Amino acid sequence: MKLPTLNNDYQIREKKGFRRIPIIPTEEEMLAPPPKDLPINIIDEPYDSHEEYLETHYKLLREDCISPLREGIRLLQTQPEELNSNLRIYEKINLVGISLASMGIVHRISFMIKHSERVHWATNKRLLPGTLVVFSKDNFKTMKFGTVVNRPLELLKKVYDLQVDVHFRLDAEFEWSEGYVMVEATSSYFEAYRHILKVLQELDPEKLPFKEHIIGLDQKIDVPKYLQTQRPDYKFENDIRCDIMEEWPTVEKISPGLHSSQYDALKRMLTCRLALIQGPPGTGKTYMGLKAVKILLENLENLKGPTIGPIVIACQTNHALDQFLEGIQEFEENIIRLGSRSRSNKIKPYTLYNIVQDLKLSDPSSLRNRDIGPLFKKRDDIKSKIIKLCKEIRNPFVKYDFIKKQCLTNDQLSSLKRDDWFGGEDTNSKKNYIREWLEDSIATTTSKQNDMDFQVTQLISQDSGNQMEDEDEITEEEIQDVEADYADYHETDDILKNADFEKLRSEECIRLNTSIRDDQINEYESEEDLWEIPLEIRAAMHNRWRRKRLKEVYIELKNLCEQYSKISDKIKTERIRENLSIVKSARVIGMTTTAAAKNHELLVNLKPKIMIIEEAAETLEAHIVAALTPATEHLILIGDHQQLRPSVSVHELESHKLNVSLFERLVKFLPFCQLTEQRRMRPEIRRLLTPIYKDELTDHEDVNKYPDVPGFYDNLFFFDHIEEEAYEPDSTSKINDFEARMCAKFANYLVKGRVSAKRITILSMYSGQRKLICKYLKEDFRKTPELNQIRVSSVDGFQGEQNDIILLSLVRSREQPRSSIGFLGISNRVCVALSRAKHGLYIFGNASQLKNRSDLWKSVLDILEKAGLCGQTINLCCQKHSNKEGGPASMEITVVADYNCIPPEGGCSRWCGEVMGCGHVCPSKCHMYPHNETTCQSFCMQ
Ligand SMILES: [Zn+2]
Ligand SMILES: [Zn+2]
Ligand SMILES: [Zn+2]
Repeated sequence: MKLPTLNNDYQIREKKGFRRIPIIPTEEEMLAPPPKDLPINIIDEPYDSHEEYLETHYKLLREDCISPLREGIRLLQTQPEELNSNLRIYEKINLVGISLASMGIVHRISFMIKHSERVHWATNKRLLPGTLVVFSKDNFKTMKFGTVVNRPLELLKKVYDLQVDVHFRLDAEFEWSEGYVMVEATSSYFEAYRHILKVLQELDPEKLPFKEHIIGLDQKIDVPKYLQTQRPDYKFENDIRCDIMEEWPTVEKISPGLHSSQYDALKRMLTCRLALIQGPPGTGKTYMGLKAVKILLENLENLKGPTIGPIVIACQTNHALDQFLEGIQEFEENIIRLGSRSRSNKIKPYTLYNIVQDLKLSDPSSLRNRDIGPLFKKRDDIKSKIIKLCKEIRNPFVKYDFIKKQCLTNDQLSSLKRDDWFGGEDTNSKKNYIREWLEDSIATTTSKQNDMDFQVTQLISQDSGNQMEDEDEITEEEIQDVEADYADYHETDDILKNADFEKLRSEECIRLNTSIRDDQINEYESEEDLWEIPLEIRAAMHNRWRRKRLKEVYIELKNLCEQYSKISDKIKTERIRENLSIVKSARVIGMTTTAAAKNHELLVNLKPKIMIIEEAAETLEAHIVAALTPATEHLILIGDHQQLRPSVSVHELESHKLNVSLFERLVKFLPFCQLTEQRRMRPEIRRLLTPIYKDELTDHEDVNKYPDVPGFYDNLFFFDHIEEEAYEPDSTSKINDFEARMCAKFANYLVKGRVSAKRITILSMYSGQRKLICKYLKEDFRKTPELNQIRVSSVDGFQGEQNDIILLSLVRSREQPRSSIGFLGISNRVCVALSRAKHGLYIFGNASQLKNRSDLWKSVLDILEKAGLCGQTINLCCQKHSNKEGGPASMEITVVADYNCIPPEGGCSRWCGEVMGCGHVCPSKCHMYPHNETTCQSFCMQ
């Protein structure tokens, strides 16, 4: 088949200013003081120029990316003994070998963690593929920069000689002296920035779509260009047709059940070339996005003129993307999700990777690319040359041919071969004359290695308590996501399979007496019989020859590696053409915003006219700009700027407004639609959001019909306490032991009260608290295995999700007049935390302090107090012994002041007293499990 050709005229021709800075940082950048003239994102007026706009976003993002590393290195240089929270440090760096991979030359590096700490690599985010690492042997006066490509777990089992694969900007580095250290930053994951930065540099601002709105804040929004020349009738549900540019039929006709705000949003999404839709919690953002996609798909094929191409869906997170695509898949099968990995079983078959695999089986000819074969052939030739040179580096003996040509006279040569006089014929042409000549200088390195193994093992057994348990813990799934995302783009499959790995270390070495001076060697240079030279001089002389030869080898290698990289780039371009030919035929293409930047060239050449971006308000502005292509005519941004903002690595950059999203910036000036009817929270929970959304939110009737939370007197309650917060040991994260126990015990109480564990989520804003809650839950796992299914999440990790019952631990509580309340003071985060629960919400915190330190919390607590839903005791009512209809008087209420008062069996404090199947009276405290799940303790015959 004929593959499409690629066009890159979206790129700016003239590369000056910020466009010339290499993406991988430079030494000068690392050693420079923090930039003084860092621009501020302009959020209250238009930018003066397109150039200023791009430069501002580039510089802010760049600073967010590199400053943790820069500041860490500065601290390491000036106060090496201080705890360096910016960096992780690795020692005893050595070069093991190289791999000739699709992405270019990759180096395998061995290292040790400082103080031989142990890391559980399977759940730790250290050195993930895509991480920027810096090497230095002179306390960072000079540096080498690389990115981690792969960290095979089987090479990370030991405490010493750990190994990772690293790609260097200057490919060929084959000579590593001792004394190098390697560092990585603890925040700012490089891979998340590099592609965005690259697109910002390449982008020609004149070709940026919507620039008059994005940069100029123009409020007049036209019809999408593809509709400007024609007035097609759009088909809606129930076969209603209308000219969408004219008056629309009523809601009932078009889509019964739609709220008027949803109807307005739909109009905006279909008829405005730039549509902003704000969806507060539970108002059906995704639902409306899906509806728009469905109507567009049903009608676009009937348009005249050039084809519209696939609709592109981009989300900030994999999770949101999968959810959106699952929705689309209900009405459209022709979807492709970029990448190889999706956690959704429904979406897995639609990943580009799986589609290519299927095509390979069903129709291999469709994938044949005639242009790629010769490239592979060429690259294989270079590869074999490189491998040959690597063998030479690995070999401790200099090549005979080399000394023959460049080092020895004929007489010397024949003296070297004197052994053959006795043997007569040269029977073994491979005979290593040099090895024989060097005799006892030869040693094996393995013995040295064994020595070191032994020392290290001793070291470890002495302080085996060093297992690290730190904030770098993430789940195995998250790690696999990152690894897959990286491998997809960089095609590192071959590295993962360990193919063509060339060792550079030899088992043998030549022992060298380092006290031998150059003039001593010179003295023997013209000695005709090499065997007359003393043994230790022989070794030194050989070393001189070898160094001379290696110099040549390195030059040759550098040259070959350059060629190798160039061809690899060409192969990569061929891959883009192949992918383009496959992706073109899809009707919907899904990707994360980061993937959109990674695949910018593919996307630009795909020329999609319609793009929908979900979670637009939590996506950094530059990520959205990097996802756009010159062909985009219709952009729908869906989000809510009152919920989480984009996250940045460097907190200080929030004062430069880096965390203000494009969405938030635009809704201040441009027309937008707000969805106002929520279908998630019961009305009393929704009322807590009044300080944020004023009176704009209304309730759908369904939320009045929710059942009560079993075992609780109220469905919403703020448990007020004064138990103090603390620091998590060895960390800066806050914890509150009392709240953690309360949450765990209440979760246990609910589960014992026969509430499915899947209906409960425990939220906290602090990672340390999350771990502590998990720890207390685990204590009851053996007795109540269902507790295992309770999700304990950070608030940020739960945006976009919901559950029936939420327990929220606020943590912060400290009797100090001026102490801050950290995350709790950020209204966007509070908004998310308060709006996740459908049926019941229980909050644990210090009410008087929150009121003193935050206006938002003061308003929220006023609402709670007025409704009598805040107090230092919480009322539970027994599902067996309370009769809610009979009013408070007929209820058995357990008043809980702390976790010791929570009935452990889900009932109340009464005795059970019921007659069991066997006829005996139950001797236990009130419980919710049926009697057939227990055995009678009396001397029972049954
Ligand atoms: Zn009871
Ligand atoms: Zn009983
Ligand atoms: Zn019995």
